Amino acid sequence: VDADPPLRKLLEAVKERNQKVKKGDAVVYWMRMADLRISDNHALSLASSQAKKEEIPLIVLFVISPQDYKAHDRGSRRIDFTLRNLTLLRDSLASLNIPLHTITHDVRKTLPAAVLSLLEDWNCTSLYGNIEYEVDELRRDILVCSLAKSKGVNANFVHNKCIIEPGVVKTKESKSYAVYSPYQRNWISVLNENLDRYLKDYPKPHSNIDGIRDSNNRFSKLFDTEVPEYVPGFELDQDDKKIMANVWPAGEEIAHKIIDRFLHSKSRTSQMGAVDPLTDGAENSDKASRINKYGQDRDNADRDTTSRLSPYLSAGVISVRECVRATLKIQKSNKVDGSRETGIGRWVQELAWRDFYTSVLASFPRVSMGRPFLEKYAIVEWEAHQEAGDAGGNDIENLQRWKDGKTGYPVVDASMRCLRQMGWMHNRFRMITAMFLTKDLMIDWRVGERFFMQQLIDGDLASNNGGWQWSASTGVDPCPYFRIFNPYSQSIKVDPKGDFIRQFVPELSGLRGPDLHNPPASVAKKLGYPLPIVKHEESRQRALQRFKDAGIKKVP
Ligand code: FAD
Repeated sequence: VDADPPLRKLLEAVKERNQKVKKGDAVVYWMRMADLRISDNHALSLASSQAKKEEIPLIVLFVISPQDYKAHDRGSRRIDFTLRNLTLLRDSLASLNIPLHTITHDVRKTLPAAVLSLLEDWNCTSLYGNIEYEVDELRRDILVCSLAKSKGVNANFVHNKCIIEPGVVKTKESKSYAVYSPYQRNWISVLNENLDRYLKDYPKPHSNIDGIRDSNNRFSKLFDTEVPEYVPGFELDQDDKKIMANVWPAGEEIAHKIIDRFLHSKSRTSQMGAVDPLTDGAENSDKASRINKYGQDRDNADRDTTSRLSPYLSAGVISVRECVRATLKIQKSNKVDGSRETGIGRWVQELAWRDFYTSVLASFPRVSMGRPFLEKYAIVEWEAHQEAGDAGGNDIENLQRWKDGKTGYPVVDASMRCLRQMGWMHNRFRMITAMFLTKDLMIDWRVGERFFMQQLIDGDLASNNGGWQWSASTGVDPCPYFRIFNPYSQSIKVDPKGDFIRQFVPELSGLRGPDLHNPPASVAKKLGYPLPIVKHEESRQRALQRFKDAGIKKVP
C-alpha cells in the first residue's frame, strides 16, 4: 500500500467525476467524525455555495457507524463527545434552516451503497465531504466515487484536517519526509509563502431557502434529525458522562473560549482536570500569557501548561487553520512564527507535528495497519502482544496493572489513572507511560496504542500511532531504542513537587520529597501501594538486548 497510497487513488477518483450531471433537488454534505463544526469547514462551505448558486437546499448527513468505531478502537467517551457536539450542531444548522439527517449503518462494506441510495431518494446529484486519511476510510470514499459516477452523482472530497495537506511538503527528491525537523522547516516556509491558501477561512454556510420544512415548520419527514443519546455497544456510565461533559464541554463556542484562555490568560492551575476552561476565563493579554510561556513551561506536566485543545482539534470542533490565524492576530504579524525561541513558535511546531503524523499516515499507510515504520523492528521479541492474544501469566497481569495504574511506579500510575478519569493525558505522561509499557514491560506497542484509543477523548489514529511508534522506537523519527526513560528521574523532572502524583494516587497523598517518586518498600506496604512490578534497571537491559537482537537479524 505504501507504493500506491489510497490517498492518491482517491484524489484521482475525485478528478474523474462526471463532467455534467443534471441539477438535483438538493446538495449533500457528508459530515464526518473529525469535522464537527460549521465555521471554517471546507467541504461544508463548498456544498453550501453550490446549493446557493443552484438555488436548491443543502442537507447535512451524518452516519453513525458502530463497526467502524470498533475497527478503530473508538472508546465510548469519544463517541459520547461526538454525539454531544452533533446535538449542538443540529440546533445551529436548524437555525440556518439546514437539516442534519442522522442514520446508523453498521456494516462498513455496504455503507457507500447505503449513502448513494439515500442520495437517490432525495434526488441529489452532488455530494461533498472532507477527506479522512485512514486507509479504510480512503478506500470507502474511493468506492463512493465509483458508485457515484455510475449513478450520475458528483462526489467531491477535499482536504480540511491539516494546515498543509499530505503530499505537499516533500523532500528535494519529491519524497515524503520521515524525519520531523526538515519537514517542519519546509512546512513553515511553504506555509508562509502561501498564507492565503493554507490559512483560508472558509465561509459559513448560507441559510437554506424555504421549502425544506413542512406546514408545521418541521423538517420534512424525509429527515431524521434526532441525535441519539448513545450508540449501542458504546454506552457511557452516567458518572463518567457527567465528568466528561464537565471537563470537556461540547461545542464550537466552548472551543473558542478554550483557545482564548490559552492565548490571552496567564491563569493556570496545578490540578489537572480540575480546571474549568469556562470559569477560568480570559484575562488581559500580556507577555506572561500561557502561550507566551509555552516554550519553557510545556514540559511541566504537573501543571496546566498546554492548550488542552486536542479533543476539539481531533473532532474538528475547532479549525486548525483558525488556531494559526489566532497566533498571527496576537503577534500582529503576517508571517507565521514557527521558531523554537518563542512560545507561539513552539506551539505552532506542535500543530506541525499533527500535520506531520497525518502526512506519514497518508504516505506510509502500513504504519496504521499494525506495521512498524522501521521494518527491522518487526521482529522485536515482545513479552506480550496482540497477535498472540497476550501471553498470559505475569505478562498479562503486568499489562492489567499498567492499565489500572498499579505498577508501583507513581508517575506511571498517576498518569494511567488520569487517563482513566479524564480521558486525556499531558504529552509527557503519554510518552512516559508508553515508554514504560514498551521498554520496561516489553509489551507490544500495538497493545498500548489500542488501549489509548479506547480511553482517549482526543483519540486520533495518526497522532496516536505516531506517539506510540515514537515511544517504542519503531516509528518515523523515533526516540532511539537505547534512550530509555528512567521513570524515577522523569517523575522528579516533570512533577517536581509531586502535586500530580498526589492528585491521582491518593494512597501516596501524605508523602513528600523523593519518597513520593520512589516509595520505600516498607512505606508502600503500609500505605497499601503496590511494590514495583519490574526492576527498571533489569528491564532496561532486557529491552536493549531485544532491540539489538532485532536490529541485527534480517526481517523474514
Ligand atoms: P498542546 O501542547 O497545546 O498542542 C496543541 C495541539 O498540537 C494539540 O492539541 C495537538 O493537536 C497537536 N499536538 C501536540 N503535540 C503533538 C504530538 N506529539 N503529535 C501530534 N500532534 C500534537 N494527540 C492527539 O491529538 N490524539 C491522540 O490520540 C494522541 N495520542 C498520543 C499517544 C502518545 C503515546 C503520545 C506520546 C502522544 C499522543 N498525542 C496524541 C500527541 C499529544 O500528546 C497530544 O496532542 C497533546 O498532549 C494534547 O494536549 P494539548 O491539546 O494541550 O496540546
